[in-house]
Amino acid sequence: MLGLRDLSTEMLESILDRTESMLPVVRGGVPFPIPARPAMIGLLFLENSTRTRCSFEVAASRLGHQPIVLTGRGSSLDKGESLVDTAANLAAMGLDALVIRSAIAGGAGLVARNIGIPVVNAGDGRHEHPTQAILDASTLRARLGSLVGKRVLIVGDILNSRVARSNIHALTMLGATVVLVGPPPLLPWTFAEFGPGVEVTHDLDGVLESADAVMMLRIQLERDAGRAVASDYRFAFGLTVDRLSRLGPEVPVLHPGPMNRGVEIDDAVAADIARSSVLEQVARGVAVRMAIIDRALEFPAGGF
Ligand code: ASP
Repeated sequence: MLGLRDLSTEMLESILDRTESMLPVVRGGVPFPIPARPAMIGLLFLENSTRTRCSFEVAASRLGHQPIVLTGRGSSLDKGESLVDTAANLAAMGLDALVIRSAIAGGAGLVARNIGIPVVNAGDGRHEHPTQAILDASTLRARLGSLVGKRVLIVGDILNSRVARSNIHALTMLGATVVLVGPPPLLPWTFAEFGPGVEVTHDLDGVLESADAVMMLRIQLERDAGRAVASDYRFAFGLTVDRLSRLGPEVPVLHPGPMNRGVEIDDAVAADIARSSVLEQVARGVAVRMAIIDRALEFPAGGF
């Protein structure tokens, strides 16, 4: 599971269905059947993470498998060992699958081509974050039903966002129109890699009322995006209480986290129980990762 770009619509639908079947386990009460042979799932996290890493750990544990976590700091990556060598060593220890987050675009794919166990991309630089996009699609479908013909605004630092890239592929595959909104320096120069169903604008107020859903993104300061942003960013692109009041009452607000309150999203918007889907996204994130780990283990040679 390296990205949404190469995933078929059929495969995406099948993961979304499997996600629904995992939800009762996540929400409590329904135990997952104990696996005949618990697997060891390596989590190689070389960039900061709160939700994704814990979510994969919880997902592996809920399935009855054993997560083994290795973070960049304190590992031999600090001594100059390469990503592929590190991953190959973990595979040689008998791990059954590897989840990788790295700052290198294409990092998970590089590893997948060089080791013989399934690899799941948990975010590779500015490139893709497939499990995030699938959990976003799952949340949107729960709120809106079919996404065919729906308009989803993605607002913020699109250029540097792997969440935006994966979501553009996922949501257009499911029939939605994705409207990318941000200041000119934070929008990609070309949209050639995406098919139809993508619109671009710098005018949030001009498109707000047409939205069926709004996804807010953080400015990726660690990817040097801060220099491109004016100090009055919030006034043009923040989801303020005033802007929230112009959205329809049923319009969900999503954010992949971490939220920068008072910048891209106001406190009161994040706290709006009726519309904020942020914690629903997190709950569904565990179910998505359970579905993906479970499926990956059915194809131990990496034929996901
Ligand atoms: N948590 C998401 C990611 O890892 C979004 C973000 O960090 O802004 O890409």
